[in-house]
Amino acid sequence: MSDYLETLYDGYGQRFRMDKLLHEVRTEHQHLVIFENARMGRVMALDGVIQTTEADEFIYHEMLTHVPILAHGAVKSVLIIGGGDGGMLREVCKHRGIERITMVEIDGTVVDMCKEFLPNHSKGAYDDPRLNLVIDDGMRFVATTEETFDVIISDSTDPIGPGEVLFSENFYQACRRCLNDGGVLVTQNGTPFMQLGEVQTTASRMTGLFADWHFYQAAVPTYIGGAMTFAWGTTDPALRKLPVDILRQRYAGSGIVTRYYNPEIHVGAFALPQYVLHAVNKPSND
Ligand code: SAM
Repeated sequence: MSDYLETLYDGYGQRFRMDKLLHEVRTEHQHLVIFENARMGRVMALDGVIQTTEADEFIYHEMLTHVPILAHGAVKSVLIIGGGDGGMLREVCKHRGIERITMVEIDGTVVDMCKEFLPNHSKGAYDDPRLNLVIDDGMRFVATTEETFDVIISDSTDPIGPGEVLFSENFYQACRRCLNDGGVLVTQNGTPFMQLGEVQTTASRMTGLFADWHFYQAAVPTYIGGAMTFAWGTTDPALRKLPVDILRQRYAGSGIVTRYYNPEIHVGAFALPQYVLHAVNKPSND
Protein backbone atom coordinates (compact mmCIF):
# COMPACT_ATOMS: atom_id res chain seq x y z
CA MET A 1 0.00 0.00 0.00
CA SER A 2 1.34 3.44 -0.88
CA ASP A 3 0.82 6.79 0.80
CA TYR A 4 -0.87 9.96 -0.47
CA LEU A 5 1.22 12.95 0.55
CA GLU A 6 -0.60 16.28 0.39
CA THR A 7 1.57 18.94 -1.30
CA LEU A 8 -0.41 22.08 -0.39
CA TYR A 9 2.35 23.39 1.90
CA ASP A 10 6.08 23.20 1.39
CA GLY A 11 7.77 21.26 4.19
CA TYR A 12 4.55 20.52 6.09
CA GLY A 13 1.61 18.33 5.31
CA GLN A 14 -0.56 15.31 5.95
CA ARG A 15 -0.15 11.73 4.81
CA PHE A 16 -2.94 9.27 4.05
CA ARG A 17 -2.27 5.56 3.61
CA MET A 18 -4.01 4.60 0.36
CA ASP A 19 -5.61 1.35 1.46
CA LYS A 20 -7.28 1.06 -1.92
CA LEU A 21 -6.93 3.27 -5.00
CA LEU A 22 -10.42 3.69 -6.48
CA HIS A 23 -9.74 6.03 -9.39
CA GLU A 24 -7.05 8.27 -10.79
CA VAL A 25 -7.28 10.45 -13.90
CA ARG A 26 -5.81 13.63 -15.35
CA THR A 27 -8.94 15.51 -16.39
CA GLU A 28 -9.04 18.48 -18.76
CA HIS A 29 -8.46 20.73 -15.72
CA GLN A 30 -6.75 18.87 -12.88
CA HIS A 31 -5.30 15.63 -11.49
CA LEU A 32 -8.04 13.67 -9.70
CA VAL A 33 -7.43 10.84 -7.22
CA ILE A 34 -10.04 8.98 -5.17
CA PHE A 35 -8.89 6.36 -2.67
CA GLU A 36 -9.95 4.54 0.47
CA ASN A 37 -8.34 5.16 3.87
CA ALA A 38 -9.31 3.02 6.85
CA ARG A 39 -9.68 5.99 9.22
CA MET A 40 -11.11 8.74 6.94
CA GLY A 41 -13.18 6.64 4.53
CA ARG A 42 -13.16 7.56 0.86
CA VAL A 43 -10.95 10.55 0.06
CA MET A 44 -10.80 12.78 -3.02
CA ALA A 45 -7.80 14.92 -3.90
CA LEU A 46 -7.20 17.38 -6.73
CA ASP A 47 -3.74 18.51 -7.84
CA GLY A 48 -2.11 17.20 -4.67
CA VAL A 49 -4.61 18.82 -2.27
CA ILE A 50 -7.11 16.89 -0.15
CA GLN A 51 -10.59 18.11 -1.18
CA THR A 52 -12.94 16.02 0.90
CA THR A 53 -13.20 12.86 3.00
CA GLU A 54 -16.26 10.83 3.94
CA ALA A 55 -15.31 11.10 7.62
CA ASP A 56 -15.35 14.91 8.05
CA GLU A 57 -17.09 16.41 5.01
CA PHE A 58 -20.27 17.00 7.04
CA ILE A 59 -18.62 19.80 9.04
CA TYR A 60 -17.63 21.81 5.98
CA HIS A 61 -20.81 21.25 3.97
CA GLU A 62 -23.19 21.95 6.87
CA MET A 63 -21.39 25.20 7.78
CA LEU A 64 -21.27 26.59 4.23
CA THR A 65 -24.99 25.92 3.64
CA HIS A 66 -27.08 26.14 6.82
CA VAL A 67 -25.35 29.27 8.18
CA PRO A 68 -26.28 31.52 5.19
CA ILE A 69 -29.60 29.78 4.45
CA LEU A 70 -30.95 29.92 8.04
CA ALA A 71 -29.58 33.44 8.53
CA HIS A 72 -31.44 34.59 5.41
CA GLY A 73 -34.63 32.83 6.46
CA ALA A 74 -36.49 32.79 3.12
CA VAL A 75 -34.09 31.47 0.50
CA LYS A 76 -35.66 30.58 -2.83
CA SER A 77 -32.60 30.46 -5.10
CA VAL A 78 -29.05 29.19 -4.49
CA LEU A 79 -25.92 29.26 -6.65
CA ILE A 80 -23.12 26.77 -5.89
CA ILE A 81 -19.79 27.44 -7.61
CA GLY A 82 -17.57 24.34 -7.69
CA GLY A 83 -18.70 21.65 -5.27
CA GLY A 84 -18.25 18.81 -7.76
CA ASP A 85 -18.19 16.16 -5.02
CA GLY A 86 -21.90 16.85 -4.42
CA GLY A 87 -21.77 17.30 -0.64
CA MET A 88 -22.74 20.99 -0.79
CA LEU A 89 -25.64 20.21 -3.10
CA ARG A 90 -26.87 17.47 -0.72
CA GLU A 91 -27.05 19.89 2.19
CA VAL A 92 -28.71 22.68 0.14
CA CYS A 93 -31.38 20.22 -1.07
CA LYS A 94 -32.43 19.54 2.55
CA HIS A 95 -34.15 22.97 2.58
CA ARG A 96 -37.59 22.34 1.13
CA GLY A 97 -38.36 26.05 0.67
CA ILE A 98 -35.62 26.43 -1.94
CA GLU A 99 -37.10 26.45 -5.45
CA ARG A 100 -34.03 26.80 -7.72
CA ILE A 101 -30.46 25.51 -7.35
CA THR A 102 -27.83 26.31 -9.97
CA MET A 103 -24.48 24.56 -9.64
CA VAL A 104 -21.53 25.62 -11.83
CA GLU A 105 -18.66 23.13 -11.74
CA ILE A 106 -15.76 23.52 -14.20
CA ASP A 107 -14.84 19.83 -14.31
CA GLY A 108 -17.51 17.36 -15.40
CA THR A 109 -15.17 14.46 -14.65
CA VAL A 110 -15.16 15.41 -10.95
CA VAL A 111 -18.97 15.22 -10.93
CA ASP A 112 -19.04 11.88 -12.75
CA MET A 113 -16.28 10.25 -10.69
CA CYS A 114 -17.70 11.51 -7.37
CA LYS A 115 -21.16 10.22 -8.30
CA GLU A 116 -19.57 6.81 -8.88
CA PHE A 117 -16.91 6.62 -6.16
CA LEU A 118 -18.23 9.05 -3.49
CA PRO A 119 -21.97 8.26 -3.59
CA ASN A 120 -22.38 9.17 0.10
CA HIS A 121 -21.53 12.78 -0.72
CA SER A 122 -24.32 13.58 -3.18
CA LYS A 123 -26.73 10.86 -1.91
CA GLY A 124 -28.92 11.31 -5.01
CA ALA A 125 -28.96 15.11 -4.83
CA TYR A 126 -27.91 15.33 -8.48
CA ASP A 127 -31.39 13.97 -9.33
CA ASP A 128 -33.17 16.78 -7.46
CA PRO A 129 -35.55 18.44 -9.97
CA ARG A 130 -34.62 21.89 -8.61
CA LEU A 131 -31.04 21.47 -9.87
CA ASN A 132 -29.63 23.11 -12.96
CA LEU A 133 -26.09 21.68 -13.31
CA VAL A 134 -23.81 23.79 -15.50
CA ILE A 135 -20.34 22.52 -16.45
CA ASP A 136 -18.41 25.77 -16.88
CA ASP A 137 -15.98 28.18 -15.26
CA GLY A 138 -17.72 29.79 -12.31
CA MET A 139 -16.08 33.09 -13.14
CA ARG A 140 -17.57 33.14 -16.63
CA PHE A 141 -20.97 32.18 -15.25
CA VAL A 142 -21.26 34.93 -12.61
CA ALA A 143 -19.89 37.48 -15.08
CA THR A 144 -22.53 36.69 -17.71
CA THR A 145 -25.63 35.16 -16.08
CA GLU A 146 -28.96 36.98 -16.03
CA GLU A 147 -30.00 34.87 -13.01
CA THR A 148 -29.92 36.31 -9.48
CA PHE A 149 -29.70 34.41 -6.22
CA ASP A 150 -30.50 34.71 -2.51
CA VAL A 151 -27.41 32.69 -1.50
CA ILE A 152 -24.17 32.15 -3.44
CA ILE A 153 -21.77 29.47 -2.14
CA SER A 154 -18.25 29.33 -3.56
CA ASP A 155 -17.06 25.80 -2.84
CA SER A 156 -13.82 26.02 -4.78
CA THR A 157 -10.42 24.46 -4.62
CA ASP A 158 -7.60 26.58 -3.20
CA PRO A 159 -6.50 29.62 -5.24
CA ILE A 160 -4.21 27.51 -7.46
CA GLY A 161 -5.02 26.31 -10.95
CA PRO A 162 -8.66 26.65 -12.05
CA GLY A 163 -9.69 27.83 -8.58
CA GLU A 164 -7.49 30.92 -8.58
CA VAL A 165 -10.00 33.08 -10.47
CA LEU A 166 -12.62 32.37 -7.77
CA PHE A 167 -10.65 34.53 -5.36
CA SER A 168 -10.28 37.49 -7.75
CA GLU A 169 -11.74 40.98 -7.42
CA ASN A 170 -13.75 40.36 -10.60
CA PHE A 171 -15.29 37.25 -9.07
CA TYR A 172 -16.50 38.98 -5.91
CA GLN A 173 -17.81 41.92 -7.96
CA ALA A 174 -19.66 39.57 -10.29
CA CYS A 175 -21.13 37.65 -7.36
CA ARG A 176 -22.32 40.95 -5.87
CA ARG A 177 -23.96 41.70 -9.22
CA CYS A 178 -26.04 38.52 -9.21
CA LEU A 179 -26.90 38.55 -5.51
CA ASN A 180 -30.47 39.60 -4.59
CA ASP A 181 -31.05 42.34 -2.01
CA GLY A 182 -30.76 40.72 1.40
CA GLY A 183 -28.67 37.96 -0.18
CA VAL A 184 -25.51 36.31 1.20
CA LEU A 185 -22.25 35.27 -0.45
CA VAL A 186 -20.17 32.68 1.43
CA THR A 187 -16.89 31.20 0.23
CA GLN A 188 -14.32 28.61 1.19
CA ASN A 189 -11.48 30.85 2.34
CA GLY A 190 -8.66 28.64 3.66
CA THR A 191 -7.10 28.12 7.07
CA PRO A 192 -5.80 31.50 8.26
CA PHE A 193 -3.06 30.04 10.46
CA MET A 194 -1.47 28.69 7.29
CA GLN A 195 -3.01 30.94 4.60
CA LEU A 196 -3.40 34.33 6.34
CA GLY A 197 -2.85 36.14 3.06
CA GLU A 198 -6.01 34.53 1.68
CA VAL A 199 -8.29 36.15 4.28
CA GLN A 200 -6.43 39.44 3.92
CA THR A 201 -6.90 39.45 0.14
CA THR A 202 -10.55 38.44 0.37
CA ALA A 203 -11.20 41.08 3.05
CA SER A 204 -9.65 43.83 0.93
CA ARG A 205 -11.76 42.75 -2.06
CA MET A 206 -15.04 42.53 -0.12
CA THR A 207 -14.61 45.91 1.58
CA GLY A 208 -16.70 48.45 -0.31
CA LEU A 209 -18.55 45.69 -2.19
CA PHE A 210 -20.78 44.47 0.63
CA ALA A 211 -22.61 46.44 3.33
CA ASP A 212 -21.37 43.80 5.77
CA TRP A 213 -18.48 41.38 5.39
CA HIS A 214 -16.79 39.14 7.93
CA PHE A 215 -15.57 35.56 8.28
CA TYR A 216 -16.73 32.59 10.27
CA GLN A 217 -14.86 29.44 11.21
CA ALA A 218 -15.06 25.70 11.78
CA ALA A 219 -12.31 23.17 12.42
CA VAL A 220 -12.34 20.58 9.63
CA PRO A 221 -9.70 17.94 10.50
CA THR A 222 -8.48 17.24 6.96
CA TYR A 223 -8.12 20.96 6.12
CA ILE A 224 -4.94 21.00 8.16
CA GLY A 225 -3.40 23.96 9.94
CA GLY A 226 -6.23 24.96 12.26
CA ALA A 227 -9.73 26.30 11.74
CA MET A 228 -11.04 26.82 8.21
CA THR A 229 -12.50 30.27 7.49
CA PHE A 230 -15.53 31.02 5.39
CA ALA A 231 -15.98 34.50 3.94
CA TRP A 232 -19.34 36.20 4.51
CA GLY A 233 -20.61 39.09 2.38
CA THR A 234 -24.13 40.52 2.47
CA THR A 235 -26.20 43.59 1.71
CA ASP A 236 -28.00 43.27 5.06
CA PRO A 237 -25.78 43.68 8.16
CA ALA A 238 -28.58 42.37 10.39
CA LEU A 239 -28.18 38.86 9.00
CA ARG A 240 -24.90 38.32 10.86
CA LYS A 241 -26.43 39.46 14.16
CA LEU A 242 -29.57 37.36 14.35
CA PRO A 243 -30.51 36.39 17.92
CA VAL A 244 -29.90 32.72 18.65
CA ASP A 245 -33.62 32.30 19.44
CA ILE A 246 -34.53 33.21 15.85
CA LEU A 247 -31.96 30.71 14.56
CA ARG A 248 -33.31 28.04 16.92
CA GLN A 249 -36.84 28.58 15.56
CA ARG A 250 -35.67 28.44 11.95
CA TYR A 251 -33.47 25.37 12.56
CA ALA A 252 -36.34 23.52 14.26
CA GLY A 253 -38.78 24.63 11.58
CA SER A 254 -36.50 23.51 8.75
CA GLY A 255 -36.75 19.92 9.90
CA ILE A 256 -33.18 19.30 8.81
CA VAL A 257 -30.96 16.89 10.72
CA THR A 258 -27.31 17.87 11.17
CA ARG A 259 -24.20 16.36 12.76
CA TYR A 260 -22.20 19.55 13.27
CA TYR A 261 -24.37 22.65 12.72
CA ASN A 262 -26.60 23.99 15.49
CA PRO A 263 -27.70 27.58 16.24
CA GLU A 264 -25.15 28.06 19.03
CA ILE A 265 -22.31 26.91 16.75
CA HIS A 266 -23.72 29.29 14.10
CA VAL A 267 -23.47 32.30 16.40
CA GLY A 268 -20.11 31.30 17.88
CA ALA A 269 -18.49 30.67 14.49
CA PHE A 270 -18.41 34.41 13.72
CA ALA A 271 -16.17 35.13 16.73
CA LEU A 272 -12.75 35.46 15.12
CA PRO A 273 -9.44 35.34 17.02
CA GLN A 274 -7.39 38.52 17.46
CA TYR A 275 -4.72 37.62 14.88
CA VAL A 276 -7.34 37.16 12.19
CA LEU A 277 -9.18 40.38 13.12
CA HIS A 278 -5.86 42.21 13.02
CA ALA A 279 -4.97 40.68 9.65
CA VAL A 280 -8.23 41.92 8.11
CA ASN A 281 -8.05 45.32 9.83
CA LYS A 282 -11.17 44.81 11.91
CA PRO A 283 -11.11 46.31 15.43
CA SER A 284 -13.55 43.71 16.76
CA ASN A 285 -16.05 41.04 15.83
CA ASP A 286 -18.85 43.65 15.66
N1 SAM B 1 -13.97 21.42 0.05
C1 SAM B 1 -12.90 21.68 -0.89
C2 SAM B 1 -11.97 22.73 -0.34
O1 SAM B 1 -12.30 23.33 0.67
O2 SAM B 1 -10.91 22.92 -0.95
C3 SAM B 1 -13.48 22.04 -2.23
C4 SAM B 1 -14.19 20.86 -2.79
S1 SAM B 1 -14.85 20.91 -4.39
C5 SAM B 1 -14.26 19.37 -4.94
C6 SAM B 1 -13.86 22.07 -5.29
C7 SAM B 1 -14.35 22.14 -6.73
O3 SAM B 1 -14.07 23.40 -7.33
C8 SAM B 1 -13.71 21.09 -7.66
O4 SAM B 1 -14.69 20.17 -8.09
C9 SAM B 1 -13.16 21.92 -8.83
O5 SAM B 1 -13.28 21.26 -10.08
C10 SAM B 1 -14.02 23.15 -8.74
N2 SAM B 1 -13.47 24.35 -9.40
C11 SAM B 1 -12.20 24.80 -9.37
N3 SAM B 1 -12.09 25.94 -10.11
C12 SAM B 1 -13.34 26.21 -10.60
C13 SAM B 1 -13.89 27.24 -11.42
N4 SAM B 1 -13.10 28.24 -11.89
N5 SAM B 1 -15.21 27.20 -11.71
C14 SAM B 1 -16.00 26.21 -11.23
N6 SAM B 1 -15.56 25.18 -10.45
C15 SAM B 1 -14.23 25.19 -10.14
